[in-house]
Amino acid sequence: MSRNEQEMKDLLRALTLCAGAPGAEDEVRALIRENLEGVGELSYDGLGSILCERSGGADSPRVLIDGHMDEVGFMVQSITKEGLVNFVPLGGWWAHVLLSQRVDIITSDGKVPGVIGSTPPHFLSAKKREQLLELEDMYIDIGATSDEAAAGMGIQIGDTIVPHAEFTELKDPDILSSKAFDNRAGIALMVETLLEFSSREHPNTIIGVGAAQEEIGCRGAVTASEKASPDVGIVLEGTPADDIPGFTEPQAILGKGPQIRFYDPTAISNRRLAELVAEIASEAEIEIQMAVRRSGGTDAKSIHLHRGGVPTVVIGVPARYIHSHVSLIHWQDYLNTARLVCELVARLDSAAVENLTDFG
Ligand SMILES: [Zn+2]
Repeated sequence: MSRNEQEMKDLLRALTLCAGAPGAEDEVRALIRENLEGVGELSYDGLGSILCERSGGADSPRVLIDGHMDEVGFMVQSITKEGLVNFVPLGGWWAHVLLSQRVDIITSDGKVPGVIGSTPPHFLSAKKREQLLELEDMYIDIGATSDEAAAGMGIQIGDTIVPHAEFTELKDPDILSSKAFDNRAGIALMVETLLEFSSREHPNTIIGVGAAQEEIGCRGAVTASEKASPDVGIVLEGTPADDIPGFTEPQAILGKGPQIRFYDPTAISNRRLAELVAEIASEAEIEIQMAVRRSGGTDAKSIHLHRGGVPTVVIGVPARYIHSHVSLIHWQDYLNTARLVCELVARLDSAAVENLTDFG
């Protein structure tokens, strides 16, 4: 990679700390724009996805590199007379990870900090302590004493809410902790790939996409694909690591390299493309992990069904504890994913891409 590690880590840090609930990806989009200005032609779809098109040695194939900009968050549903904020989830949340966590409510007047309220054990019966609280029964305490006071702070129905987090290196500085590695890792890698090819030849046209609204049904990838008109798709993800207690055959281990998600219920990667990625990884001496997932989905769901069908592969950086306030990735996995994606893009000329769908 032509960029140094510190530059790359700084970009990843800044992206994870951006607020970007589905449908409110403004901060992420602005940071992508700032980094890719001049690298390619920037445009937007009607849902707010950002596209950066960079022409290389040939007009085709058109190589789509997708990352979704949004993170799991919430939306203000109502404000009680007492000034507490009720909310609905945007994306998949497990109630266990939410109580007593800090959040930021994104208002038109700026960010309002709050805390998801929890009842102290002193007030909980033995039975209550064993129950899982429903999200509907939770509230955000912003320190307001009435609905008027909350409105005075700028809170309005429909405002989005994101986890409040910090970016930290653990004792092993290769282990990074922050919110939203799903999917700012993917976004950062999309940006790094374009930056790499701003000073390197490529036998294709690259369209980097920061897609909107993945966490609520891969919606931005539908509209961005319309604009991008890809011949081949690479989906970059912060993918859930399963190297945690309770899994006997993990397929996403921190430090074991990029994961090729061959299957999940929403998409099957193009077999020849997945093989090509494995071949390139082997040549570049990058360890990879193959995954067949029983659940989950990515933007590949939308991209591979575009037009007459687009050969697509999903490449992910394993991330522990995603869809919560803190997740962990391994920095070497990130760097190796960046290298792998760049080598793949360099190899995707028209003959290679035509071969992917040569079914005759
Ligand atoms: Zn994701």
